[in-house]
Amino acid sequence: MAERISGHTELIGLIANPIRHSTSPKMHNEAFAKLGLDYVYLAFEVGNEELEDTIKGFRAMKVRGSNVSMPNKTVVHKYLDKLSPAAELCGAVNTIVNDNGILTGHITDGIGCMMALKDAGVDVIGKKITIVGAGGAATAIEVQAALDGVAEISIFNTKDKFFVNAEKTAEKLNSKTNCKVNVFDLADLEKLKEEIASSVLFINATGMGMKPLEGKTYIPDKSFFRPDLTVLDIVYIPAETALLKLAKKAGCRTLNGLGMMLFQGAAAFKLFTGKDMPIEYMKEVLNIKY
Ligand code: NAD
Repeated sequence: MAERISGHTELIGLIANPIRHSTSPKMHNEAFAKLGLDYVYLAFEVGNEELEDTIKGFRAMKVRGSNVSMPNKTVVHKYLDKLSPAAELCGAVNTIVNDNGILTGHITDGIGCMMALKDAGVDVIGKKITIVGAGGAATAIEVQAALDGVAEISIFNTKDKFFVNAEKTAEKLNSKTNCKVNVFDLADLEKLKEEIASSVLFINATGMGMKPLEGKTYIPDKSFFRPDLTVLDIVYIPAETALLKLAKKAGCRTLNGLGMMLFQGAAAFKLFTGKDMPIEYMKEVLNIKY
């Protein structure tokens, strides 16, 4: 690392809180080193209160870009100059690119999820999926799935402050795409079971299963699943959540969030550097196996 850092090395950040657990710094720095690119990627513990100053700092220091995670994804757009169409549709940003002082917000989570499914050989185009979540990551997946040609999406969420997001997403996607999008209360477990039964893929896109909710799932038992269903949990710490353990018991194909993390990173890497991330090498480095 010391050999490759010089006075020309450009900084790419990651702003979130908590963030010390993140795999992104290792992923991007390994990819820069492999391709001989003169960038360094560092994580900064930044929440909503420090966000405006941080973005001003990025502008002042001419930082090339940054990734953005919780709790800043749905707030950071206020401090940027432009948004990509997907970021606009999602109301969330996970990647900022600084082009000569113009800061553009992008969202690569949905692209990453769809790329990870494709890479794992899971075909959802023209089919129905059920997803739990209405936050930044869930919305990005729902938007991209609809744009890519998934036929029907049933969204479930608890009746918290995010529920209205699910309703807004459904409204937008039902009017702007050919995808049929339904919204249900996660408390309606009978409906959840019914919707999963007619889906090829079930996704958890909430923090359920990750600290402080580690070991927990809202799925009561394995009768909700069947062997020809794929279950994706976008959480990747722990690598096998309570949901994935249950799905495995029911004989499902299971995927954790590492693939999505890798491909959302690859899409951001391309925006920062203009280069393709060396995917197979990164899978080895990050020990990602399907
Ligand atoms: P967010 O804060 O925008 O959304 C939180 C979501 O979790 C909402 O839908 C909310 O209703 C739901 N939720 C919160 N507590 C819940 C509970 N007790 N029961 C059921 N639902 C609950 O967060 P986000 O940015 O969308 O991230 C959500 C999760 O996805 C996090 O665990 C994050 O680490 C993970 N994530 C993974 C990737 C990846 O690449 N694999 C990318 C982004 C986010």
